[in-house]
Amino acid sequence: LTERLNQAFSRLKGRGKLSEADIDRALREVRLALLEADVNYRVVKDFVARVKERALGQEVMESLTPAQQVIKIVHEELIRTLGDKASPLDLSGPTPLAIVLVGLQGSGKTTTAAKLARFLKRRGRNPYLVAADIYRPAAIEQLKTLGQSLGLPVFEPQPGQSPPEIARLAMVQAKATGRDIAIIDTAGRLHIDEALMEELKAIKEATSPKEILLVADAMTGQDAVNMAKAFDEAVGITGVILTKMEGDARGGAALSIRAVTGKPIKFLGTGEKLEALEIFAPDRIANRILGMGDILSLIEKAQETFDQKKALELQEKLRREAFTLEDLRDQIRQIKKMGPLNQLLSLIPGMSKIKNLDSLGVDGKEFSRMEAIINSMTPEERRNPRILNASRKRRIARGSGTSVQDVNRLLKNFAQMQKMLKRVKKKGLRGLPFGPGT
Ligand code: GDP
Ligand code: MG
Repeated sequence: LTERLNQAFSRLKGRGKLSEADIDRALREVRLALLEADVNYRVVKDFVARVKERALGQEVMESLTPAQQVIKIVHEELIRTLGDKASPLDLSGPTPLAIVLVGLQGSGKTTTAAKLARFLKRRGRNPYLVAADIYRPAAIEQLKTLGQSLGLPVFEPQPGQSPPEIARLAMVQAKATGRDIAIIDTAGRLHIDEALMEELKAIKEATSPKEILLVADAMTGQDAVNMAKAFDEAVGITGVILTKMEGDARGGAALSIRAVTGKPIKFLGTGEKLEALEIFAPDRIANRILGMGDILSLIEKAQETFDQKKALELQEKLRREAFTLEDLRDQIRQIKKMGPLNQLLSLIPGMSKIKNLDSLGVDGKEFSRMEAIINSMTPEERRNPRILNASRKRRIARGSGTSVQDVNRLLKNFAQMQKMLKRVKKKGLRGLPFGPGT
C-alpha cells in the first residue's frame, strides 16, 4: 500500500499549480491502491470523496506546494478513517471489572488474553485470567501455561460448569483474592452461530463487562470487518483487537473496521510472543502507511524490550537532535535482540525507503553489516561522519569486510534519518517529509 501511494503522489510532485485533472488522476491511483489493499469499497469511496473535496478547495489550489498539500490531506484523512485518536481501555468504576474477549476460533483470543494481562500487570494492575473455553480442554491448559509464564493466577473451571457460570464464579473469586481485572477468554467457533452468541450474551449478563473486545485476524481482511459487524450486532462489542498484523502488509482490515462498524481498534497483535501487543494509534498507523517510519512505536517497543534508561536516553537524544552513528549502532544491537527484524525495520525512520528492505529476511545480514561498518570507525568518526574522506572510507570498508559502496549507503541512510528527525522535531507531524528526496 505504501509503495502504491507513494507512486500516486510522485507524479504530483515537482509541479506548480495542479489542475482538477491532476488531482483526479492521483486520486484514481489512491483509490486503486486502497482497493488492492483490501479496504472496504465504501470506505474507499468516502475517503476519496473527502480528500477530493478538500484538495479542490482553496487551501491546495492556491498553495505553492500543492502536491505536499494533497499528501497532507491524505494523511489527515487516513487518521480520521482510522479513528482520530487512540482509544484506551475503559477501566473505570468499581473493581473487579471484566474484560471479555470474543471471536472466532484461531483468531488469537487466548494468546491476546495473556498479552493483555501482561500489559495490565506492567501498568500496576492485578489481572486475573479466566478460562471460559470449556469445549477444547487444551484451551484451559494453554491459558494456564501462559498465566504461569506471567506469574499470574488463572481461574480454572470445574467439570460440568457452563461458561456463564464460570464467568460469574470467577468474578466472585477475583473479588475474594484482590484481583481487579478479570480477563475472560471465551470459546470460539469456526463460524458464527446462534449457540455461541447466546453463550456470549449470558457471559455478558453474568459479568457486566466494561469491555467486550472482538479479537480478529487481520490477515482475513474484509472477513475480519464482517466479523466485527456480526459480533457487534449480536452481543455489542466495545472495540476490536486485530491480531497477526505483522503478517498483513495491506492494512485493509485496520483501515475499514472503524469506518464500517464505528468501533475503535484498541490494540494490534504483532506476533506470537506475549510482548507483541501494541496500542493502536491512528496517527502512527497513518504514518506507517505513508512510509514515514514511526519513531514513537520504536521508542515504545524499545521501552518494552530494552532497559528503560537506554530508551529514555534515546528519547532525549531524538529531542536534542543529537542522534549519532553510535546511537544507531546501539539501536541496531537492541533491535537484533528483539526478534523478527523485518517487522521492526519498517519502524526506523528512513528505513522503509531502503530498497532491499524485503530481502533482508530474519537473519538481519544487512544489520550485521551496518554494525560492522560502525564498529570499524573511530569514535571521532562516529560522532562526526563528515570527516570521512575516501581513504578513511576505504579503511573502514576493509576493516568491516564490506565495500566502500556499503559504507556510503550507510552514511546516506543515516543522513536521511537525521534529516527526518530534525523535521519531526521542528514542526511536529506537519513537518513530516512528504517531499522528494526523503
Ligand atoms: P484462539 O483460538 O482465538 O484462542 O487463538 P489462539 O490464541 O490459540 O491463537 C491461535 C494461533 O495464532 C496461535 O498459534 C497463536 O500463537 C497465533 N497468534 C495469536 N496472535 C498472534 C499475532 O498477533 N501474530 C501471530 N503471528 N500469531 C498470533
Ligand atoms: Mg483459545
